[in-house]
Amino acid sequence: MTPWRTLALVVLLGSMPAGIFACRSARRPARSVVLVTIDTLRRDRLSVYGYGRPTTPRIDALAARGAVFLDAWSQAPNTNPSIASALTSRRAPITTVRGNAEKLDPAVPTIARVARDAGWDTAAFVSTVLLRRDASALDGGFDVYDDEMTDPCWGHDRAQRVAGRTIDRALAWLSARDAADGRPFLLWVHLYDPHGPYTAPEPTPELDATAPSLPAAADESTWRGAQRIPRYLRVPALTTPLEYADAYDREIRYADRHLGRLLAALDLATTYVAVHADHGESLGENAYWFRHGTLLHDSALRIPMVVAGPGIGAGRRSSLHVGNLDLAPTLARLAGMPPLPGAEGRDLSPHLLRGDDAAPAWFVAEARRRELVKDDTGIDVRWKLRHTDDAGIDVTWWPAADERRVRGGTPGDVATAMERMRAWLRGPQDAGPSAITPEMENALRGLGYATPAETVTPSSPSSPPSPRRR
Ligand SMILES: [Zn+2]
Repeated sequence: MTPWRTLALVVLLGSMPAGIFACRSARRPARSVVLVTIDTLRRDRLSVYGYGRPTTPRIDALAARGAVFLDAWSQAPNTNPSIASALTSRRAPITTVRGNAEKLDPAVPTIARVARDAGWDTAAFVSTVLLRRDASALDGGFDVYDDEMTDPCWGHDRAQRVAGRTIDRALAWLSARDAADGRPFLLWVHLYDPHGPYTAPEPTPELDATAPSLPAAADESTWRGAQRIPRYLRVPALTTPLEYADAYDREIRYADRHLGRLLAALDLATTYVAVHADHGESLGENAYWFRHGTLLHDSALRIPMVVAGPGIGAGRRSSLHVGNLDLAPTLARLAGMPPLPGAEGRDLSPHLLRGDDAAPAWFVAEARRRELVKDDTGIDVRWKLRHTDDAGIDVTWWPAADERRVRGGTPGDVATAMERMRAWLRGPQDAGPSAITPEMENALRGLGYATPAETVTPSSPSSPPSPRRR
């Protein structure tokens, strides 16, 4: 029987400059925070990261006033696990969110809960049915959690909400709240547009004068035609990889246009703004066309991350190796909130505000998808871990078979990497996917995802098998 349940991890160890953040207990002044998550947004598709088309002029303008992290990573290549970890700064074994339509453990605090308990107004505006409260349980801590889907997608009438409408709602909330009392706010806005299918709801003539390109690592000889990409991604008018890539760019430009309306309403003298992605998208690398959520390739894990606000120097560019797990503790600290309990990411505020070095840290990304069995290794890949770092250590480990591939590093380095990966796996038991409604199951099928019932077999272990000793 095909092993439906698949899980893979990649551990990325950042090689940081020497120096440790000082421990500071004093609170900073209370500030507002806006966190913008743009779904399926590849880092190298933003003009601020060097792309040759003007896809993101509003994000570029924000970046010019703040800091850009050049080496940012997600800890999951799909939506719910990545976002649950970003809002909590906890690994998937802690959040219990290892797939879409899996719910956050209510005992795990989010930055929204910390903010609300400390007196911030809190609101969230999300744009996919996957993040609806009944599918994600991410609404805890938000005074307002607007998850009303208004737009068709994947053959369903209300599977998403386009950026124009989500931003309208967020702006309405901002203008309606009573700012006169001086309370700060935490606003989370999630935009879904770059996620397939690539059908921007408005024309984007700003891109007409430039041509799309494919990543250098994309091999067009592996393109097998649009009929071979996931059904939900197929657009009848598109046939070639470049046509799909162009349509992807236009979704990004569309999202940026409406994000610009929100950014224009914010005061960066009193508000911290962070823009990031939950994951990227493969544009032909590894013979993987216009997909994400399964394999743990860099194309799905590298993300943009821009942070601006009071005290952050304009035009800063940071080569620190950072991750989505770092976002919540950093934003909480910048805004003067209490620390996020149990945060596993780092508070990067000293780096942002003063340029301090950061302590070494390691990052984890995890996925559970049946497609992993198609990995070209020929090894049982239900579980897969990869450890790399800038010092040349590169270890891939399949715990189920205790198979490993070592591409670099000294024996001591490899032993350290293996211990880190084992430590990662020693998390709490995986509770398995939450029950979902038939409506949600239909939406997931339309999106091309296997539903939780399809991704887990009753005989699957609730945690990975212990590796055999060699
Ligand atoms: Zn996503």
